[in-house]
Amino acid sequence: MQHVCETPLTIEGALAAQASGETSALELTEAALARAEATASLNAWALVDADGARAQAEAIDMRRAAGEPLGPLAGVPIGVKDQICTKGLRTTAASKILENFVPPYDATVVSRLRQADAIIVGKLNQDEFAMGSSNERSLFGPAFNPHDGTRVPGGSSGGSAAAVAAGSCVASLGTDTGGSIRQPASFCGVVGLKPTYGRVSRWGAIAFASSLDQVGPLGRSVRDVAAVYGVIAGHDPLDSTSLTHAVEAPNYAVDGSLAGLRVGVPQEYFIDGIEPAVKASVDAALGQLEQLGATCVPVSLPHTEAAVATYYLLATAEASSNLSRYDGIRYGHRTSESVSDIGALYAKSRAEGFGDEVKRRIILGTFVLSSGYYDAFYLKAQKVRTLIRRDFDAAFADVDVLATPTSPVTAFKVGEHVTDPLQMYLMDIFTIPSSLAGNTSLNLPCGVDSAGLPIGLQLIAPPLGEARLLSIAERLERKLGNWGGR
Ligand code: GLN
Repeated sequence: MQHVCETPLTIEGALAAQASGETSALELTEAALARAEATASLNAWALVDADGARAQAEAIDMRRAAGEPLGPLAGVPIGVKDQICTKGLRTTAASKILENFVPPYDATVVSRLRQADAIIVGKLNQDEFAMGSSNERSLFGPAFNPHDGTRVPGGSSGGSAAAVAAGSCVASLGTDTGGSIRQPASFCGVVGLKPTYGRVSRWGAIAFASSLDQVGPLGRSVRDVAAVYGVIAGHDPLDSTSLTHAVEAPNYAVDGSLAGLRVGVPQEYFIDGIEPAVKASVDAALGQLEQLGATCVPVSLPHTEAAVATYYLLATAEASSNLSRYDGIRYGHRTSESVSDIGALYAKSRAEGFGDEVKRRIILGTFVLSSGYYDAFYLKAQKVRTLIRRDFDAAFADVDVLATPTSPVTAFKVGEHVTDPLQMYLMDIFTIPSSLAGNTSLNLPCGVDSAGLPIGLQLIAPPLGEARLLSIAERLERKLGNWGGR
């Protein structure tokens, strides 16, 4: 199965083609809808809102014809991960417990997309409650990788990455708690940005682990991702952790070199078990950075080893608390069986509504927070999180950005790891530390392995370093040329 988009259209291209009259928002929307249908076997979409998308497009075309000013994403077809609330459009987080939830409001990121005149094509498949690295655990069934239909697209934002790679939307929104934008972007050969914690509003994004969750864009180029980021980033009074700093735009100096740039290469990220093709491709990308004038220097992030364990204590603790609201009374699926008391109603509703991985995490998180274990696990993990953040602070005292593989492997086969949670958790070994530190990082496609599967380079910048990060990535992207489905 080869589903990769053959005629990639970028945001810039879409805007220019509409401005010149070569195409219309409606035509772009029809093309995305047709592509979604032609690639339906990828199962990237949880819901395609064909009528809604057409109506939005017609309204934009009419406003253009009337000479009205249009927003920066006018007529650009965009998909939204099902973790993010969309007014009037079913939003399930790929869980049976939210199977019938139709939000009465848009998440802030979605209202900002609408204000920018983007076309919301529909909702994208994902792992249930964003827990997973393969998009195999979903109310909608697994999503598949456009580069090889027997393989996973990565997760949890698997649909967001697969749809962009396959061309059924120009860009998408995902969420990233421990790697869920970057890892699927790597597996599908697209660009994906995890913004600094607090940079993009979480209001209306269904909570998994609130101290880690961030919404971010996926697209076929750095410029596309930057364009969507520019629309969704910025202060939101509805999110108490939202940052108030101004959002800076990247600077794409036409023939800019990267002279003077210091790139740190963390030694702890080049471990045994990393696939040789991944290492070779990342090394080659580092070589290209040097050719552009950058200096690559080895750095150490000594607490990297503890990151996965720390993450699975903190993320599960937060998840167990966040997911307690789905009890069949306040929110979510309610059992139709007759029960003797309220406790049984909660238990039965939750047993029916949550999948196995979500249950595993609720149990683990409840244990981590339970009296007598709190200090030993939760508090200790918070302290280790601080050490991990300090590792990054120390590294950034000497270098501008860090460069690592995004994932130790390329896309694996559907079913390969689904019964082994530990193997699955290790998929995020290179993305989790940056999430714990709260800084910003992105995936940039940097090559393919011998089977043609995409390989991704992760670039990490200090908190609020998005503009710099995107500028550097864009420069490197031009040097590397196009890869994967782009
Ligand atoms: N794969 C990781 C997990 O399962 C990260 C998920 C995410 O970033 N949402 O928790």
